[in-house]
Amino acid sequence: MEEYQLIENYNSVKARAAAACERAGRKPEEVTIVAVSKTKPLLMIEELAARGVRDFGENYVQELTAKADELAEKMGAADPAASAADHPVNWHFIGHLQTNKVRQVITRAKMIHSVDSVHLAQAISKEAEKRGIENVDVLIEINIGKEVTKSGIPEEEAEDLLRQIVTLPHLTVRGLMSIAPFVDDPEDNRPHFKRLEILRKRLQALDLPNAPMMELSMGMTGDFEVAIEEGATLVRVGTAIFGARDYTI
Ligand SMILES: *Cc1c(COP(=O)(O)O)cnc(C)c1O
Repeated sequence: MEEYQLIENYNSVKARAAAACERAGRKPEEVTIVAVSKTKPLLMIEELAARGVRDFGENYVQELTAKADELAEKMGAADPAASAADHPVNWHFIGHLQTNKVRQVITRAKMIHSVDSVHLAQAISKEAEKRGIENVDVLIEINIGKEVTKSGIPEEEAEDLLRQIVTLPHLTVRGLMSIAPFVDDPEDNRPHFKRLEILRKRLQALDLPNAPMMELSMGMTGDFEVAIEEGATLVRVGTAIFGARDYTI
């Protein structure tokens, strides 16, 4: 992909996000576009970063580690192995996380979107303690469409999991994340997005310590505008920015 095309794509997503904000009476600053760069070369990330794009999403630990460290080295960061704040861009971990890979992620990702068990939260807390990391920002992943293949916990279990997580040190639960079903018509996901925003508000109203619950990570290439209209604060957009992914290489 030509360099100008990439930034053009990004700007087009940004404009569409701003228009969705406008329709919903929200400010564009309320929504962060996370450029999902999985399977895409570091060169593309560098091009966007050079033009001021700051938030990138990765699904696989190994890929996040390699890209984050190489970018930090290229951009002259101090000690990229120490903590997420030492990296020149904000990395968002959006994939399934195994407890044995927590260390690689908490030293690089500004936010982990995919916490779906107390077991994982405990592992994050423990590893943060060990590494002297004061705080790790996380989101609880909700399985909204109830598709068997999708990760995340059922809505009904969210409060219970939240109450367990907030007892752990070194974690702040910033909100909820969900991967909506793949649909042809983004309007089909609107009811899911609405329910997530209602759930987020309800959990926020519990006013638990270390659980500000202000963030809602939902919406991808096919439905991010609808997600913004329904309250998303983080949209995870891959294809519309980077083009189609090729998993065969
Ligand atoms: C790949 C991925 C995205 C981006 O999907 P696109 O449809 O390419 O925008 C967003 N969120 C998660 C969790 C993903 O795995």
